[in-house]
Amino acid sequence: METFNLPHPLTYNRIFVAGHRGMVGAAVVRRLVAESCEVLTAPRRELDLTNQQAVQDWMLKNRPDVVVLAAAKVGGIHANNTYPVDFLYQNLMIEANVIHAAHLADVPRLLFLGSSCIYPKHAPQPISEDSLLTGPLEPTNEWYAIAKIAGIKLVQAYRKQYGRDWISAMPTNLYGPGDNYDLASSHVLPALLRKFHEAKQNGSPEVVVWGSGTPLREFLHCDDLADALVFLLKTYSDDAHINVGSGVELSIRELAETIAQVVGYEAKLTFDASKPDGTPRKLMDSGRLHALGWNRVRVLRDGIAGAYEDYLSRVAE
Ligand code: GDP
Repeated sequence: METFNLPHPLTYNRIFVAGHRGMVGAAVVRRLVAESCEVLTAPRRELDLTNQQAVQDWMLKNRPDVVVLAAAKVGGIHANNTYPVDFLYQNLMIEANVIHAAHLADVPRLLFLGSSCIYPKHAPQPISEDSLLTGPLEPTNEWYAIAKIAGIKLVQAYRKQYGRDWISAMPTNLYGPGDNYDLASSHVLPALLRKFHEAKQNGSPEVVVWGSGTPLREFLHCDDLADALVFLLKTYSDDAHINVGSGVELSIRELAETIAQVVGYEAKLTFDASKPDGTPRKLMDSGRLHALGWNRVRVLRDGIAGAYEDYLSRVAE
């Protein structure tokens, strides 16, 4: 295998953050302010990442030193389950276009972002990086997962065939400022923040929680993820993708109770069994990341309180 010079200082680098309007991309841009680098972004109206020619033209014109591929079609369990084409096709196009264009433009460093849903539904917990492709996927998000697995393999293939010093990171379930609060397409944490807020406003006695409330999920704040990603850009170079989790795990019921406290509204929880639970448990083993020296995760309640402020200032009516 190629060996690369570590660490990678980011100073003076021109870093293209693809997907800078999304929750993760925006967090990476915020975090990069603390580094002496130049951040490049491309508004969607100027650069459609599913358009191969447009992406190649942009990359060859701008020739960044680093690409952070945070652009993706993302969504919660309902959206994933309902729009399989969007999640598979758009993500395949975005990653194939950006990664290949980065190769054509000879971009020295690239960080691809996947997701914890790449792992088999019944992977041993906590899920280590080695669990990839050892069993069937969770059906509610397999479209997205297949696209993300292809992205990891694409990065590995460019490493193997062309000696590219490119890496992939797998974040767990994310939340934070800039999240999507649309109930039809959001993930559980922003959905429940909104539902509790609206119940409080309307004086409604109950909040509907999808599924049984028993699935376990791990939650990571997007700004903690961004900090870990900058750390990895500086210190990590390996074929293997690397997990970025928080170790903070709770059931959906416990999450609802925590959100009730943050919003300051106690409501009866009603569980809607017509909605899917998805994978029963999704806790990642982030031991490799910790062994490298990163472990700076905020307290979940504090993180949710910050997310609620974002919701109140940006979304709530
Ligand atoms: P997942 O981690 O890919 O399953 O994605 P989600 O964040 O969308 O869902 C996580 C879990 O929360 C699933 O078991 C959902 O059924 C459950 N859940 C409970 N209430 C809601 C809700 O209002 N919206 C969403 N998206 N999920 C919910």
